[in-house]
Amino acid sequence: MANIPPPVVNDFRLRQRIRIVGTIVFETAWRIGSGREGETMSDLGVVLDPHGQPVLPGSSLKGKLRSTCETLAHALGLSTCLLNVEASGVKCVSDVDYYKRVKDDYRRQSEGGIESRLDWIDRHTCDVCKLFGSPVQASRLRISEGRLHAWANVVQVRDGVVLDRDSHTAVDGLKYDYEVVPAGSEFCVTLDLDNPSDSDLALLGAGLFEWVAGSSVGGFSSRGLGRFHLQDVRIAGVDFEDPDQRIRYLTKLTPEERLSDLGDWQTYFTAKINGRLNSQTADTAEEA
Ligand SMILES: [Zn+2]
Repeated sequence: MANIPPPVVNDFRLRQRIRIVGTIVFETAWRIGSGREGETMSDLGVVLDPHGQPVLPGSSLKGKLRSTCETLAHALGLSTCLLNVEASGVKCVSDVDYYKRVKDDYRRQSEGGIESRLDWIDRHTCDVCKLFGSPVQASRLRISEGRLHAWANVVQVRDGVVLDRDSHTAVDGLKYDYEVVPAGSEFCVTLDLDNPSDSDLALLGAGLFEWVAGSSVGGFSSRGLGRFHLQDVRIAGVDFEDPDQRIRYLTKLTPEERLSDLGDWQTYFTAKINGRLNSQTADTAEEA
């Protein structure tokens, strides 16, 4: 068995961190399944913490943001493998089958030192996976679990019927029920992005605009569950190249004091998205 080096973590040094804080507001009921019976004895429970309060896992949010960014990548002129090299035509190590084919090459390049290893990763990773991570590179983006802000204090139970796949009619006697968290629940979320590239910022920015406009997360979205929007977005960060920001980060105690306010999030990310689109136009002009 070839000895595969562990994933590269964020190019080792923290040079810059961007922190985005916002509130997720559910416009409809939603469910993230626990994979078990519910507390209410319903067939399909939702994830609750030990106090019986709903949990909005960071992994669910990150998965949703990833698929949002996959949808938008093309509009920004960025590549996405969709975790399937054959379907997307984009060669990226996040596709397990493709990774198996190039793993030995990766190991050989890694023996040539860190520069050659990073260069190999750069050439074999799509833009979306550069942001969200791959088997050879840790994600630059972390999303916290939602911090519960408000909710109805009760889980609802809804009835479902088992549908015949061919006739689309209810199968006699086959009923089940499932839990949902009622509409109106609110969660605070924090997104941390380390050492972002210009492409990372354009992609994340476009994803945030989409979430503010409205998106959906969790199960049964085809039945209208899980509609949410993001609001009250704030952006702050630290750039270690800037002496003032550096000293503040190293000597203050609260996150508010340590990070510098980056102003209006829309203005910030519009500039990043514009920069990305302009560089793309410049590339095309050069090729012509
Ligand atoms: Zn990829």
